[in-house]
Amino acid sequence: MNINEKGNLVVISAPSGTGKGTVITQLLEKDPEFVFSISATTREPRPGEIDGVAYKFLSRERFVEMINEGKFLEYAEYVGNFYGTPVEPILECIETGKTIILDIEVLGAKQVMEKIPDALTIFIIPPSMEELEKRLRGRGTDSEDKLLARLKRAGDELEEKSRYKYIVVNDVVSRAVDEILSIIDTNKSKGLN
Ligand code: 5GP
Repeated sequence: MNINEKGNLVVISAPSGTGKGTVITQLLEKDPEFVFSISATTREPRPGEIDGVAYKFLSRERFVEMINEGKFLEYAEYVGNFYGTPVEPILECIETGKTIILDIEVLGAKQVMEKIPDALTIFIIPPSMEELEKRLRGRGTDSEDKLLARLKRAGDELEEKSRYKYIVVNDVVSRAVDEILSIIDTNKSKGLN
C-alpha cells in the first residue's frame, strides 16, 4: 500500500493508563487536517462513550464477519476483546491528503508496520511504572482483575517500544503533544511518512 503520495498515516501506541487518550484528543484539536481512525471493538462501552465516536461497538459475531469480509487494515485481541481498524476511512484520508491518527495496541501496530512500512509510528511511555499504576487505579473504570490484566499487558507492551520510530514520554501532556506535532511536521517536510 503506497501512502506517500497524498496522505500521512500516524500510528500511536501506549500502554493502557499512559494518558494516550488525552494526548490524542489534544493533538486532534491542534490541526483540522488530523482525522482520528474510529476503531471497531467488541468491548462494552464505558459510561459516556457514544457509539461511532471513540469506537464503533460491535457484537463478536459482527466483528468476525468483518474480519472475514476483509474490512480491517489490522485487528487484534486485547484483554479479552477484539479491536480493529476499518480500512475504508484510511484509504479515504490518504486520498484526500489528510493525516489519519491510529490509536492502536502493539500487535495491531506490528501488522500496520508490515503492510505500510512508511507509516509514522510513535510509542508513548509513562514517566514510570508506579505512575502508570496510579493513573490506572485513578481512572477507576476497571475491576481489579481487569486492572491487573491491563498492568501486566502494559509491562509486555513496553518491551515492544523499540519497534517504533519515535518514543515520547508523557510527563506533561502539553509537552508530549508538542513533541508529537513536531515529529509529524518533520516527517511531512521530509516526505517520510
Ligand atoms: P481501551 O479498551 O482502553 O479503549 O483500549 C484498549 C487498547 O486497544 C488500547 O491500547 C488501544 O490503543 C487499543 N486499540 C483501540 N483500537 C484499536 C484497533 O483498532 N486495533 C488495535 N489493534 N488496537 C486498538
